[in-house]
Amino acid sequence: MMQSVKLNNGVDMPLEGFGVFQITDPQECEQAVINAIETGYRLIDTASSYQNEEAVGSAIRKAGVPREELFITTKAYIQEMGYEKTLTAFETSLCKLGLDYLDLYLVHMPFGDYYGSWRAMEKLYKDGKIRAIGVCNFLPDRLLDLCYNVEITPQINQIEHHPHYQRTEELSLMRELNIQPQAWAPFAEGLKGMFTEPVLLQIAAKYGKTPAQVILRWNVQQNIIVIPKSVHRERMAENLAIWDFELSAEDMSLIATLDKNCPSMLDTRKISEIKRVYDYLKNPVLTSL
Ligand code: NAP
Repeated sequence: MMQSVKLNNGVDMPLEGFGVFQITDPQECEQAVINAIETGYRLIDTASSYQNEEAVGSAIRKAGVPREELFITTKAYIQEMGYEKTLTAFETSLCKLGLDYLDLYLVHMPFGDYYGSWRAMEKLYKDGKIRAIGVCNFLPDRLLDLCYNVEITPQINQIEHHPHYQRTEELSLMRELNIQPQAWAPFAEGLKGMFTEPVLLQIAAKYGKTPAQVILRWNVQQNIIVIPKSVHRERMAENLAIWDFELSAEDMSLIATLDKNCPSMLDTRKISEIKRVYDYLKNPVLTSL
């Protein structure tokens, strides 16, 4: 049975959810979210930059599951950073989703005036409009600095995390700060040979599972929330069928050997990457971020 984690403010959050990055066609996105909810997902992860909040909102209404059973996340992007801009962005996102509160609102990137945004998110949180607030892609130095300078410690840091990028020291710091880690791109977006990794294939065969299921299970066994994305209903079900087996300590150690300690998707320390992110804002192309 799906488990949940208690965030540092006492809110329960499912350990597994459904991500909708790169599902840009409104009808496809709406259908994917309806299918995901019907399959059993309750946590849906979107972002203003994914430009599919309306489709997610429409799916939520059509799926017919009571609002309080769902856990809806969206994110404020760089051009929405700053106190006033984030207050406005929040109302825009809420309106597009057709909701009257959010379960989780995240700072999407560690760039721009995210301190101003954080104060806006603290206000929205205190006003009861958001149940939890957090950040994404914060490396240890910025995360620690943020914690020293804000009233409310983030509940979540959503980071790239998969067998090739395991970030064990960063995870220890998050545990120390009582910030819940959440893994994005748990499959490295299906690239870099993740599904044909021999160690994962060998472990998967042992349990009659797939490499995708082993990767997700490896995350949740470390108490890391996962949000895999798929537009295929059978994969949605496959990705959810991870609650009936347990990886052994030996399996966990074997997977630990796959770490390349190198981001596959996003490196916010790289000058070229920062330039790419800001260039994107001048000419947004949906599939590039
Ligand atoms: P991902 O979940 O690692 O991988 C998705 C890819 O894997 C898709 O191509 C999907 O294909 C394929 N796939 C899914 N399940 C599969 C299975 N069981 N077997 C084989 N292939 C499978 O990548 P992601 O979408 O980038 O990350 C997940 C979520 O994290 C996003 O949707 C988004 O919500 C969030 N995210 C956040 C950030 C951030 O900066 N905060 C960045 C990136 C992503 P099909 O769809 O064709 O099935």
